[in-house]
Order: sequence, then structure tokens, then C-alpha cells
Amino acid sequence: MTDRSAIQLIDEEKEFHQSALQYFQQCIGNRDVGLDYHVISVFGSQSSGKSTLLNVLFNTNFDTMDAQVKRQQTTKGIWLAHTNEVNTTMAINSGRPDIFVLDVEGSDGSERGEDQDFERKAALFAIAVSEVLIVNMWEQQIGLYQGNNMALLKTVFEVNLSLFGKNDNDHKVLLLFVIRDHVGVTPLSSLSDSVTRELEKIWSELSKPAGCEGSSLYDFFDLKFLGLAHKLLQEDKFTQDVKKLGDSFVMKGTENYYFKPQYHHRLPLDGWTMYAENCWDQIEHNKDLDLPTQQILVARFKTEEISNEALEEFISKYDESIAPLKGSLGSLTSQLVKLKEECLTKYDEQASRYARNVYMEKRESLIVKLNSHISGTINEFLETLMEKLWEELKVQVLSRDKATTSFVESLTIGRTSIEKEFKKSIDTFKNLGLLTSDEEITSKFSTDFEEKVKQLRDAELKTKISRIRKNLIPELKDHVIHLLSHPSKKVWDDIMDDFESTIRSNLSVYQLEKGKYDFKIGFSDGENANIYKNIRILAWRTLDTTVHDYLKIDTIVSILRDRFEDVFRYDAEGSPRLWKTEEEIDGAFRIAKEHALEVFEVLSLAITSENVEIIPDVPMSEEENGEDNEIYRDNEGVFHSRRFAHILTELQKENVLDQFRRQINITVLDSKRSIITTRTH
Ligand code: GDP
Ligand code: MG
Repeated sequence: MTDRSAIQLIDEEKEFHQSALQYFQQCIGNRDVGLDYHVISVFGSQSSGKSTLLNVLFNTNFDTMDAQVKRQQTTKGIWLAHTNEVNTTMAINSGRPDIFVLDVEGSDGSERGEDQDFERKAALFAIAVSEVLIVNMWEQQIGLYQGNNMALLKTVFEVNLSLFGKNDNDHKVLLLFVIRDHVGVTPLSSLSDSVTRELEKIWSELSKPAGCEGSSLYDFFDLKFLGLAHKLLQEDKFTQDVKKLGDSFVMKGTENYYFKPQYHHRLPLDGWTMYAENCWDQIEHNKDLDLPTQQILVARFKTEEISNEALEEFISKYDESIAPLKGSLGSLTSQLVKLKEECLTKYDEQASRYARNVYMEKRESLIVKLNSHISGTINEFLETLMEKLWEELKVQVLSRDKATTSFVESLTIGRTSIEKEFKKSIDTFKNLGLLTSDEEITSKFSTDFEEKVKQLRDAELKTKISRIRKNLIPELKDHVIHLLSHPSKKVWDDIMDDFESTIRSNLSVYQLEKGKYDFKIGFSDGENANIYKNIRILAWRTLDTTVHDYLKIDTIVSILRDRFEDVFRYDAEGSPRLWKTEEEIDGAFRIAKEHALEVFEVLSLAITSENVEIIPDVPMSEEENGEDNEIYRDNEGVFHSRRFAHILTELQKENVLDQFRRQINITVLDSKRSIITTRTH
């Protein structure tokens, strides 16, 4: 594209124009230019044919004096034009570089002070952003210190030394001296010697900042010299000279190639505007211009911008492409890796051109952001997995072959395989770099797992206890009632012996040694002991309820009466007696009554044959297995403080004896009446 108008990058008010960005976009279109572009500036007295030269050399369209009404000013400022059409001696068909050309348009020098300020700043700016600075001068200017560019160069060197002095990378700027209207009377070599001497002299007289005293002009600049014929008088030769100059901007790899990598600022084109603007801002406000710092600032800003864009794209695709894969580890991980890689590739493509450490640093933080986004999905996956594995384990434990595998064994086997499976998934995520730290999720897994195992154990315990209850309670009841219904004097010895042996026989499969049990649910010794204690409480409560329910006044009266009648009505051989005399009846009555009342004491108070009151060895009022036993509560829900052994109160005892006497008296009366009846027959 030729004939494109230049734009004003910095105007006469010294404002930087943001329009440069759009301008680049127009020039470059969709091409990815990256670092493959060049910046060149021109610098020199007014009306020295600078714009004319640039237009011929680069096919640009900068305003020249000729295009204006004669003697009128061109518009002051720094102008920017793009080209990939360099005028050369030979045809170039491919690989034309993108060159951005800066033309500095000063004023004619009428207002000296203002003028110098602008030109000084423009020159500083040109050096800060360009690879090559063309210093345009008339042949006859050489050797005349005042009135040529040398005074300006001195200032520029001086201000720049502080900045380049800090610059320890080997960045340089090429100063290309173009000597106009070079007729050839004085050979170029002696003109260049003269300029070089002058530059060296200027350099030596500069006030150098500390640390830069020994620095040389050539540490910062390369010098080249070129003579051009008079444009108006030797038009053809001028054009030929310009074409030769053009060769030096395109003949990559030749000795005369001007765009040495060393001159490039190593900023991708998309960071250049920001860099240029920052530089101008610093120059304009007379701040120390620190180019390396500026480059880092731009790199930070740009890599951040690129990273955000890549991340945004990643997020926008994420949910939709992940949602259908949530169930399968394989497809989920490969999709996550793919999305992550796409994002990083996008970042790398653009950001890798910026300062390496900045680029890498930002890359790390992008990875952190990606991983934290991904971690939500991973956690969700792992939680679902946990839930699934847990359900499987539950089924496995509950449906185990109880004959061959115990609860504890089954749980241990299941647990090992669950942990393996879970770890396998975590390792997969970790190995693919999708998960950096698994501490949190692993510890959550353990906590959840313990909680669930506890639930499973509790359920198992409940089943076991209820099985034990089902046998133990009726057995205890039957035995106690049986013993009490035909009591001996040592009935409580028998009851307590039976009580212990019934408990023991019901728990025999769990007994390790005397008094020590393992209920085979994976509980600790303490927990096992506690379960045993609860079972004893249950047994004691059963005993207590049974005894107190059974031994009511009426029952005791009838037990006593049975005992009485056993002796009164039947003889030693068990045959019913036939009464002959009343004396006989009275004698038997005394013996039978005595026999009956022998057990009255043990039916009203639970004591051993050694006269010791029976006291439960466990706290019966304690809650057993979390359930209340209602019988220990009165209407207000408070436990009675009734003592186990105390079956009848004194009043109740009186009552029993009254009824007993009344009933046996009737029996005696009936017996006596039977004698009379016999006689009367
Ligand atoms: P600028 O202010 O440095 O950009 O100068 P211009 O390119 O606008 O040119 C200023 C004047 O110098 C114009 O009238 C040109 O015709 C004239 N001019 C351009 N090139 C040459 C040259 O090689 N030799 C001479 N003597 N005049 C030139
Ligand atoms: Mg000009």
C-alpha cells in the first residue's frame, strides 16, 4: 500500500495521539507482526530535505515544503508513516519488512527558545523509540559547530547518557549521517572523519554522571555516513543514491544491513504504542527516561492484558465443554488439559515476545488462575467419586458373607480399595498438572470417611444389640419367673447365678476373656467395655422390671398359699391327705404355715443366703444406647430412686400376711368341715 497519509503521533501542543493504535491496525490488518518490524527516525535542520528524502526512500507521503504553498510551514510535530515499499536498486518480491518512519517537523527557528525545547524533546524521543536515527545535514554545515545539528546532538547525548549509562544490555542506536548535496569535491571519508572527530570531542566534553566517566560514544551508538547527490541538480544520481540506501534496509544478512538485532527494542508491535507514549510522557515532563524500566512496564501491562484475554476465552468455553464429561475421569482430564493448553498457547503466542522474566512470571500466575478455576470441577468430581465409592463400600459390607468375613475385615478391605481408587484419581489430576495441592481434599476425604465409617459401625452395633436383646430379655424373664414362682430360701442366689450365666451365654461369641468383650465392629477396648456395660444395664433393667412386675401382693399371696397347700394337703409321698381328727388338722396347719412363710422374707426383700442385699452393679438410670427405658420414669419423667432389693413395703407385707392368713384359715375350715361331712355320712 503506497500513498498512505502519515498521521500525527505528537502534535504541536506536545500531545501524544492514541490514534497510532488504529493506524497500526489499518497498516497491519490481521497479520501477526510480533517483533518483525522496524522503527526509523529522521532528524536535522528545517528545510534540509528530510521529508523529501523519506518520501523517495520509503514511498511515504510526508508533507514537504514543495507540496505546500512556498515558504509556508509544514505542520509541526512528530509524524508517523508505515511502509513496506522501500525503494531499492533491485526488485524485492518477498519478505518486505514493516517499517514505521518518524518524521520530525520543527519550526523555522524564528522563536528560538520554544523551538529548541521541542527539537530537543523530539530528538530524545526518536532515540528512545527508533533503531536507526538519520541525521540529515548539508555538506557545507560540516565543521560549523553553531547552526548545525551538533549542538542539539550534544544535549541529546548528555540527557541520554544518564539513561543509557544505566543500560547494561548491549542495546545501541545507529546514527546514520546523510550528507545532502554531496558534490564529491570533498570525499565522504574526510567528511565522516570530520564529523566523527566532532562527535568524539562533544562526547569527551560531556559532563558524565557517576559510573559513566569512562564510557565511550561507541558503547551506545554505531555511526554510518552516506553522501547523497543534489536532488534538484542531479536528480538521477540522487535517485540512484537513495535506492542504494534503500538496499541497506532490506538486504538482511549483508554487511551493510542497517537493522541489526541489537538496535531493536524487543517489544512486540502491540506494545510499541504504549512504550512510545510512556517515553514521550517522561520526556515531556522532564523525568529521567529509563528505557529498560519502561520496557518492563510495558511488558507487565501487555502480558497481563494478553493473559486476561486468554483467561476470559478459557472461562467462556469452560462450562459448556466440561459439563457433559463430569462423570468420566479420562475424558474430563483430557478436556481440562486441552482447555488449559489452548489458553496457555494463546498466551505464549503473544506474550512470549515480551521480556522473558515478565512473560514467565505472568505465565505462572495465569497457571495458578487456571488451576484455581479447574479446582472447582476437580473437587466436584472427587466428591461425587467419594459418594459413589462410599455407597459401594456400604453395599459390600452389608452384603458380605457373614460366615466367612467379619464386619471389621470387610470394612478394612473395602477401605483399602476406596483409598486406592481415590488416590489414583488425585494422582491423575496431579500428574497432569491440573491439581497442585491435594492436602485439603485428601483431609476432607479422611474426615468424611471416618464420619461415614462411624455411621456404618453404629448401624452394625444397633443390629447386634437388638439381636442380643431379642434373646436375652425373654430368657432372663422366663428364668426369673420360673425361679420366683417356686422359690426356695436361697432363690436370690439362684437368680443371680442364672442372671450372670444367661448374660454370659448370650455374649459368649464376643467374649475374649472373663469380663472382656470384643463385639467385632472395630471398636476400641474402651468402647467395647462401654457396650458391655450397656448390655448389663439392659439386663438389670429387665431383671428389675420382671421382679417388680411379678412380685405383686396377689402373686406373693398365691405363692405362699401354694407352698402352704403343698404341705397341708399332701403327705410326704404326694398323696392327698384324709383328715380323721381336728388335732391332726391343727398340727399339719402349723407345719404348713411355717413352711410357707419360710420364703416370705425373700419375696419381700431380695437378699442372698448370706443375708446380703442385692444391689445392681451398674447405674440403671443411665441411658442405654441413647434410648430411655420408660419404666424408670414417673409421670414427670424423673427416675425413681426405688431400690432394686426392696420389693414390699411394711404395709404391703401386712397386707400379704392378712390375705394369706384369711385364705389358709378358710382352707382349714373347709378341711374341718370335711371331717364332719364324712362323719355325717
Ligand atoms: P524538511 O523541512 O527537512 O522536511 O524539508 P523538505 O523535504 O520539506 O524540503 C525543503 C526544501 O528543500 C524543498 O523546497 C525541497 O524541494 C528542497 N530539497 C529537497 N531535497 C533537496 C536536495 O537534495 N537538495 C536541495 N538543495 N534541496 C532539496
Ligand atoms: Mg519535513
